[in-house]
Amino acid sequence: MGEPLKSVLIANRGEIALRIIRACKELGIRSVLAYSEGDADSLPVKLADQAVCIGPAQAKSSYRDPRAVISAALAYKVDAIHPGYGFLSENADFAALCEEEQIGFIGPAAEVIRRMGDKIEAKKIARRAGVPTVPGSLGAIAEYSEALAVASEVGYPLLIKAAAGGGGRGMRVVETAESLEKDLAEIMSEAEVAFGDPSVYIERYLTDIRHIEIQVISDGTTVLHLGERDCTAQRRNQKLIEESPSPVLDAELRQGLADAAVALCKEVGYKNAGTVEFVFDNIERTYYFIEMNTRIQVEHPVSEMVSGIDLIKLQLQIAGGLPLELSQDDIIFSGHAIECRINAEDPENNFAPGPGKITNFRAPGGFGIRMDTHIETGYTIPPYYDSMIGKLICWGKDRDEAIARTLRALDELVIDGITTTAPFHKKILETEKFVSGNFNTAFVAELLSSTHATAGI
Ligand code: ADP
Ligand code: ADP
Ligand code: MG
Repeated sequence: MGEPLKSVLIANRGEIALRIIRACKELGIRSVLAYSEGDADSLPVKLADQAVCIGPAQAKSSYRDPRAVISAALAYKVDAIHPGYGFLSENADFAALCEEEQIGFIGPAAEVIRRMGDKIEAKKIARRAGVPTVPGSLGAIAEYSEALAVASEVGYPLLIKAAAGGGGRGMRVVETAESLEKDLAEIMSEAEVAFGDPSVYIERYLTDIRHIEIQVISDGTTVLHLGERDCTAQRRNQKLIEESPSPVLDAELRQGLADAAVALCKEVGYKNAGTVEFVFDNIERTYYFIEMNTRIQVEHPVSEMVSGIDLIKLQLQIAGGLPLELSQDDIIFSGHAIECRINAEDPENNFAPGPGKITNFRAPGGFGIRMDTHIETGYTIPPYYDSMIGKLICWGKDRDEAIARTLRALDELVIDGITTTAPFHKKILETEKFVSGNFNTAFVAELLSSTHATAGI
């Protein structure tokens, strides 16, 4: 049994930095925010107990710079570093550096991050744990002849994926054999440039699927799950809306998914919070593991709202060496939660990012509503980072109530001065298809092309 953490350095920005500061405050942990020059005026800087500028706005020289973060952690004598999501959160070298410097890394062991961060290795581990994976190559594809052999087994369309891909990038659909050679060469060089690793693998491209993932939490001994999140509403393989529970699972499938996720975590000796992602084939009604994210995820509040469990607090407690004081039976799910990711983007202009000054901000309120955001009136969104500026999470006693409440909250939400995706969320939630719960990952693209057609664009 360890010592509860007394101080934590937060190596992140935006809403997740604020989320972690809040959890620290409630646990009596001193929070030190490491921020860049681009974020000097941000709300997390104002609300953290201490804040330290670690470099210029460019993330490469601040949020993504292991040495800059470690130096701040040493200078402020913190017990541990919370990496949030993105930036250094899935950087195994950084986690190893923390271990060397004897600073806690709030996440799994460096070696586990390394193994699960390589999607090819992760699939191998999944197979070993008896977890079904998408049919495809068993390992990396190094040359065209190998790709041809795999293609003849999995058929077309197929998907070439970068082993180090993430954030919806590093994937290419190959429709026919004619373009396979060219596509393979192109995606390998793209992966080399984007991720510093040209390794790719092949999967069958499944066309009628949902994205369903399981939230896990482990203290290194006990592995628990917090049920599923359904993230089928995506655009360009990036999630827009997430909900829990999934509208399509029955009790047996739900249990199967949860058992698979827990088995995988046990296989790798997983510790802390993580997410095991699956695609769910609507026709076959079966699921396949696609990847594991070894960090807290953007959409974690959805699971918090239906379970009543504060995942960030559990992360902090586990990192302090405290055992989970919960068993699976203690985790009781209630109602339905929906999250909309609000981005500073223009849906009418191909979702072009539009940072700028917020002249007026009013958050929605009332029963069952949670808005996780760092924006405020007068705040200028810097142009250097991801365009997500907040998350609206609404709970209802059932899915219908959660949808009605989200629509009501979106009506109340005011963000003036910039263009956001909030009205687009309204559009999605009002469609018959979303309300029916019966849709797949192509739904948002179809909605966009049909509304553009009607608008004559
Ligand atoms: P997932 O899609 O697996 O839930 P997230 O949405 O949490 O994961 O985002 C994946 C990771 O990529 C996160 O760590 C996030 O910060 C980062 N990310 C998300 N969107 C972008 C983007 N447009 N460009 C670069 N990184 C991104
Ligand atoms: P990332 O690391 O970018 O999050 P994932 O492997 O999690 O990449 O895949 C992101 C999304 O791409 C999935 O949620 C799903 O919509 C789609 N996808 C992934 N694998 C397949 C597949 N084999 N067939 C069809 N769609 C897929
Ligand atoms: Mg993913």
